[in-house]
Amino acid sequence: MLDLTGDPVDLLQAITDVESVSGNEKALADLVEEALRESPHLEVVRDGDAVVAMTRQGRSERVVIAGHLDTVPVARNLPSSRRVVDGEDRVYGRGTCDMKGGVAVQLAVAAAVPSPVRDVTWIFYDHEEVDAERNGLNRLATHHPELLTADLAVLMEPTAAAIEGGCQGTLRVAVRTSGAAAHSARSWLGSNAIHAAGEVLRRLEAYEAAQVLVDGLLYREGMNAVAISGGIAGNVVPDRCEVVVNYRFAPDKDEAAAVGEVRRLFEGYEVELLDLALGARPGLDRPAARAFAEAVGGEARPKYGWTDVARFSALGIPAVNFGPASPTKAHADDEYCPAADVYACRDALLRWLSS
Ligand SMILES: [Zn+2]
Repeated sequence: MLDLTGDPVDLLQAITDVESVSGNEKALADLVEEALRESPHLEVVRDGDAVVAMTRQGRSERVVIAGHLDTVPVARNLPSSRRVVDGEDRVYGRGTCDMKGGVAVQLAVAAAVPSPVRDVTWIFYDHEEVDAERNGLNRLATHHPELLTADLAVLMEPTAAAIEGGCQGTLRVAVRTSGAAAHSARSWLGSNAIHAAGEVLRRLEAYEAAQVLVDGLLYREGMNAVAISGGIAGNVVPDRCEVVVNYRFAPDKDEAAAVGEVRRLFEGYEVELLDLALGARPGLDRPAARAFAEAVGGEARPKYGWTDVARFSALGIPAVNFGPASPTKAHADDEYCPAADVYACRDALLRWLSS
């Protein structure tokens, strides 16, 4: 049985040592469910290997505080160990950073605050580190959409105990040039599609990515060629060339605006959209989020990269990331979580839920 009332860093070690690589979350989900059912103030629902625990205080606000139970595969970094490195007390081991530090904080605070000033839906879910079809949050949204209703969602992904708002959107397009194939010995009979791609690259080079202010946070966009291909043989003038471009865009843009930006840039070329995921607004102008920012203190930062906050955003719920450990250590073989971050995040949530 997990002890939710002791030192949360001990709790972090205990849940780290229950290996839970995506697809193998059952043992940990069982322990989480069993521990939460000990708290009479929580109504617990189990769906697959996701566990949801709700307070029912009849408050005017409800917030979701969520974290995933799974990790990427183990790389000889279990069991966990707690040691002082560079003068810092740390817990090392697979999942300590992404994101069992956050899960330990969730469990400790869920048990410690029987009567929060805002109702809380605690969510622990499976299959975050794999493809979206298996994502436990997606499944919950389908099976129990009512459980995801909230004024704000906090995802306890690693942010080094700072608030990271929203997330950028991302899309990829293939930009194609065409020419006429010919033997390279008589190249004047053809037209070289790889040379034609030079203009595509020059436009990318000259492109000035925007910095966009959204709900008070400045997002820095990026437009980059990430692959290029063309040519079929060493003696053939190529008639096709393809440049794959990745555009990371601010969360104020919808699909039409983001795709429109790319099509404008590559006007005159064949442009095919390969994939797209919208970003999420930080929503820090909402009352629940403002109170959260006050309880945490410090400056909020924009989130780079794409996280499950976008899933909440798609449901109309503003979401932020806030959790212990540096995101740069996620998925690293030497991933670790500083003990001080665990206490700082726990204390911030305690302040937010009791005042
Ligand atoms: Zn994660």
